[in-house]
Amino acid sequence: MLGLRSVAVRRALSRSYASAAAPHALVFLEHTRGVIEPSSLSALSAAQKLGGQVTGLVVGAPGDVEKAVGQAKKLPGLTSVWHASSSQYANIVPEVVSPLLGKLLSDAHPSFTHVVSAHSASARSILPRVAAQLDAPAISDITSLEHNAEANSTTFERPIYAGNAVATVRAPASVPLKFFTVRPTAFTAAAPDEGYEAAVQAVDPVEVTDSPAQHVQYNLTKSDRPDLATASRVVSGGRALKNAETFAATMYPLADVLGAAVGASRAAVDAGYADNSLQVGQTGKVVAPELYMAVGISGAIQHLAGMKDSKLIVAINKDPDAPIFQVADAGLVADLYQAVPELIEKLKK
Ligand code: FAD
Repeated sequence: MLGLRSVAVRRALSRSYASAAAPHALVFLEHTRGVIEPSSLSALSAAQKLGGQVTGLVVGAPGDVEKAVGQAKKLPGLTSVWHASSSQYANIVPEVVSPLLGKLLSDAHPSFTHVVSAHSASARSILPRVAAQLDAPAISDITSLEHNAEANSTTFERPIYAGNAVATVRAPASVPLKFFTVRPTAFTAAAPDEGYEAAVQAVDPVEVTDSPAQHVQYNLTKSDRPDLATASRVVSGGRALKNAETFAATMYPLADVLGAAVGASRAAVDAGYADNSLQVGQTGKVVAPELYMAVGISGAIQHLAGMKDSKLIVAINKDPDAPIFQVADAGLVADLYQAVPELIEKLKK
């Protein structure tokens, strides 16, 4: 068990923070053009487990914010929704959003006890910045949490070493403000209730004129296929797929017949068989679908880190000793070029 009483936190303690406050979480709700990300809904579920009040924070451009707030206020897990609207938040740049979060926490302190977000590319850059400014601990990519109301301490679990070990981290009562990011696949997404209405409050944006980073452009990969991160079925191809043409000709018909999203190993991505956005693993996406099918993937630990929590793992590999079979619920030792077309034909029937 790792304690979090850092020197920085001890400095924070010298201020007059309340040490036995009831939990009050601030959840950073990310959205894409006003549609709240499913990963943020999972972060909200994690925040609810603290057992106290939960305030949502929506930041974005005018128009998008109203749309996202309309969705957020229907989430029964939220006591209230705060929103900051400004064109400078049209695209989330951590250097531009962090001062707003820092100001809200400074102004509202000591009301908030936890700051929560999904472990997304943006939020995992924003939360630690603000935590450092406030001399508070930031715990990343948690997969479970337990709040002990009596002791006023929160205990988190987070995978380390590419998922080969789990660290248990406790933030005791003497740490008044705790930041944590949430692995979305570990928590069910919070569901809306049309009859519910959280209190809504506008907060002033903090103008940032000297940001060292600026948004340049989005390069969006458009696809009609299920989203890899949230799909209930995923079929992933590895190095054995040989090239981009064979990858597409083998994996997409299989995905179509299963209604699955397509993923890839890093070897397949690095070799240019599949787009970078399809990579599953330690340095790619973490998925936990109902069905994960690994085709021509050896099962390196870095790949397993991104899919081993899938409910049913099926592997097709011609090597009976491939490590993927150690985590597979069902394995087929076969040449994928024979097995996959056969499987597709059978599934069509
Ligand atoms: P290989 O290991 O080459 O396996 C190919 C498999 O295909 C073999 O098991 C072989 O038996 C099988 N095969 C070959 N031909 C056939 C056939 N005809 N029919 C059936 N089976 C066949 N990897 C990731 O995937 N995701 C990550 O996020 C990731 N992050 C990394 C981060 C770091 C810091 C490092 C160091 C590595 C990372 N890797 C990651 C790379 C990882 O270590 C492996 O190199 C990679 O996962 C291997 O990909 P693969 O299984 O497709 O290829």
